[in-house]
Amino acid sequence: MAKVELKNIVRNYQAQLEDTALIEDKNRPALSNINLTIAEGEIVSVVGPSGCGKSTLLKVIAGLEFPDSGQVLYNDFDVTHVEPQKRGIGMVFQDYALYPTMKGQGNLHYYFEVHQRTQEEMDQRTREVAQIMGVGFDQLIGQNTTALSGGEQQRVAIARCIVRDPLIFLMDEPISNLDAKLRERTRIEIKRMLRKFKVTTLYVTHDQQEAIFMGDRIVVMRKGNIEQVGTFDELYYTPVNLFVATFIGSPPMSILPVSKQGNTLKIGDTSLEMLPISLEDGAYRLGVRSEGWELNNPQGVMMAVRHIERIPTEQASFIHGTVGGESVSVLAPLDQAQVSEIRVMPKWDQVYFFDASSEAALHTPSVPELF
Ligand code: ADP
Ligand code: MG
Repeated sequence: MAKVELKNIVRNYQAQLEDTALIEDKNRPALSNINLTIAEGEIVSVVGPSGCGKSTLLKVIAGLEFPDSGQVLYNDFDVTHVEPQKRGIGMVFQDYALYPTMKGQGNLHYYFEVHQRTQEEMDQRTREVAQIMGVGFDQLIGQNTTALSGGEQQRVAIARCIVRDPLIFLMDEPISNLDAKLRERTRIEIKRMLRKFKVTTLYVTHDQQEAIFMGDRIVVMRKGNIEQVGTFDELYYTPVNLFVATFIGSPPMSILPVSKQGNTLKIGDTSLEMLPISLEDGAYRLGVRSEGWELNNPQGVMMAVRHIERIPTEQASFIHGTVGGESVSVLAPLDQAQVSEIRVMPKWDQVYFFDASSEAALHTPSVPELF
């Protein structure tokens, strides 16, 4: 396992794609100026909208693509221009069958030559992986891959990679084509193996729940940049800007244009009395999460209800609708009555304020202390 460092990484693509419609901004680099350190044995999830550079980031770390400038370091050793086969990495992609050369060989090489580990150790590791993967894994791993289902192939590919003791493990949406039930089981298996063998891992996913489950920390990317790196709580309670705030959390945080004057906050025609907050008077964007609203407060702002989504497993529901034309979702009890409008009031200790133009976060709640 290794510490991984990215220093000022820039990756420009020559706009070679014929279908330029696929590239929203041809002149924007796939990676703009990436700085990131992943500690030894740490699991870091990477999330962000499609096209933001997640796969390019992984490829640069793997050596499948070289950066135009900047450095990639493994354990302080510069590997920026080292071929992927010589890096001792393990990789699993969603469509990994398309990249057969990326696994195997290189890792085995590395495993035996650099680590000088024994066959016994390898066998021991295999037994431990098989234990985590459960009954039937021994049979799976012994079979010809063509005899396996897609899901089985995926799990075997991941397990094999880990058995071979990679220095760094890179996964790009490795299980997104499995059905929901198998996905849940597989991500538990992956996490157990990573924990057990303390493998330094980068895990790309578009599934927020998966990112939270897998990662010690989460990297949020947008348009070739890293917007923020942090634990889920840090991203959730102290996002650096409106993008991170609305990207993390489900349903997304509601955003309302407001103007503040002293302790009065105007949302459209409605004036709300709020708790004192140290922000200059002026126009802002107010952010409120679904659980950050108080229902049926007569002093609150009127919300037009579109529909009520019941979540029996959570003993709750979400009221979806609009306030002054902006989409708003409010957490409510499961037995919330059907209504066409309802007055809601922000819980002032849970609100977020963003700069109206730069969208930088100017006020956030702090990470709650659990003890
Ligand atoms: P993600 O994995 O987050 O969806 P990618 O890393 O695949 O994003 O792509 C980042 C950006 O680089 C996108 O705008 C994409 O269109 C562009 N891009 C990816 N591959 C190429 C390529 N081979 N040539 C030109 N542009 C590319
Ligand atoms: Mg991708």
